Amino acid sequence: MKVVKFGGSSLADSEQFRKVASIVKADPDRRFVVASAPGKRFSSDVKVTDMLYRCYEMVRNHEDITEYYQQICERYNSIIRDLGLNFDITGELEYIRNAIQHHSGRDFAASRGEYLNSLILAKFLGFDFIDAESVVFFHENGLYDDEKTDEEMRKELKKHEYAVIPGFYGVMPNGTIKTFSRGGSDITGSIVARAADAELYENWTDVSGCLMADPRIVKDPLPIKTITYRELRELSYMGASVLHEDAIFPVRYAGIPINIRNTNEPDAPGTMIVASTNEYDSEHVITGIAGRKGFSVINVEKDMMNSEIGFGRKILDVLEDNDISFEHLPSGVDTMSVVVATQYLDARRERVLTSINKRVRPDSVVIEDGLALLAVVGRGMVKAKGTAARVFVALSDAGINIRMIDQGSSELNIIVGVEEHDLEKALNAIYLEFVK
Ligand code: ASP
Repeated sequence: MKVVKFGGSSLADSEQFRKVASIVKADPDRRFVVASAPGKRFSSDVKVTDMLYRCYEMVRNHEDITEYYQQICERYNSIIRDLGLNFDITGELEYIRNAIQHHSGRDFAASRGEYLNSLILAKFLGFDFIDAESVVFFHENGLYDDEKTDEEMRKELKKHEYAVIPGFYGVMPNGTIKTFSRGGSDITGSIVARAADAELYENWTDVSGCLMADPRIVKDPLPIKTITYRELRELSYMGASVLHEDAIFPVRYAGIPINIRNTNEPDAPGTMIVASTNEYDSEHVITGIAGRKGFSVINVEKDMMNSEIGFGRKILDVLEDNDISFEHLPSGVDTMSVVVATQYLDARRERVLTSINKRVRPDSVVIEDGLALLAVVGRGMVKAKGTAARVFVALSDAGINIRMIDQGSSELNIIVGVEEHDLEKALNAIYLEFVK
C-alpha cells in the first residue's frame, strides 16, 4: 500500500482536486491521503495558511476579520460548488471564525486550512476522515512525540481501508492544537507512511521531482531519477528544497522510499528518494549541486599551533559559549579556520573575537564575510576518479577564485567556498562540466 501526500498547489482549486482524485483512484493501493491547505492558484495568489495567520494577527490588533475571513470561506465554498458536492461546511466555517475571533491560538488558526481541505477531499473521494488531532501528538515542551504518535496512528489506521488525514498539525497534552513548522504536511505524510508500513510514500507537488540544480540559477537542469536520503540531506542543507527537511526521518528509519511526483504531470516518474542504491545514474558522476550565501570565516593563526593540544577545542568552546554552531573547519599547520553562518555571528562578533584572543592568545584572528558555500553531491564520486579535479578546473576556467575546499571522507560531497558574487557563475560552471 501507498501513502500519498498532496501539497497546497495540488489542492488549490476544484480543477486541482479533480486531478488529485484521478491520481488517487488510478491505484487502489493509494489508501491513505495526507492533504495540505489550498495553496496558490496563480503567482500573486495568497495561500489559505497565510490568510489564516493574517486573521490571527488582525484579531490581535483588534481589527475586524469578518470581511477578510469571508475570502477564506469563498475559497472553500467555491471548491465545493465547482465539484458539485452536496456538502455544507457553513457550521465549521462559523465555528472557526468565532474561535479565531475569541483569541484561539495561532497554530489552531493556521491548522484549519488543512482541516477543512481534508474534510472536503474525504467527501469528494468517498474516503473516511481521520482528524490529525487524534493521531499526531506533541510533548509538553512542543517537541513532536514520535512514540505516542506511532502507536496511536497505527491503531487508528487499522480501522480504515481508505482515509484522508490533514497534514501540518497535531495536539499538545493539554488539548491545544500545535503545528509543525511551515511546509510540515510533508512530515505528517512521512509519519503516516511509517505507521501504515507503506511500501512507498508518494509526495505529490508541482514539480516533476528534484532537479540537479536550482532552476532559477541553472537553465533547465535535468531531473534527478534516484537520490539517497543522505544526498538529499546534503543538498537540502545547501538550499535545495522540495521536501520539508524533517520529513525524511520517519520513513528513512523504516526504509520506505519517497517518490516526489507532479500532480500536473502525473505520468512523469519523478524522483525516488531511497536509503541506498546500487544502481548508479551512470550518465552523471554527480547527483546534484546546490549553494548558499551568507557565511563568514573566522581565521585564527598562531605559530606552532599544531603542537598546542586543546587549541581547537578552546576555539570551539568559545563558539559554543556564544551559541554559534560551525559548518566547516578547514585547517593548516599553524592556522585554523572556522566557517559559520554570518547571521549567527552578527550580534556576537566582538565578543567572539575577544574571547578567542583571551583563550588561545593567537598571533592573529580575523573574520572574513561574504563567503558562499556550494556542495557538489553524488554517491557516484566514490567510484569515479578525478571528480574534484573536474570541479576545480571548471571553476578556474570560469575565472572563479576558490576560498575554501572541504571533502568529507565519505566522498559523498565536495564543499567549495567562493565569493558570494561568484556563486551563480560557479554553479553553472560545475553543472556544465558534468552535464553536457
Ligand atoms: N499549509 C502549511 C504551510 O503552508 C503546511 C503545508 O502546506 O505543508 O506551510
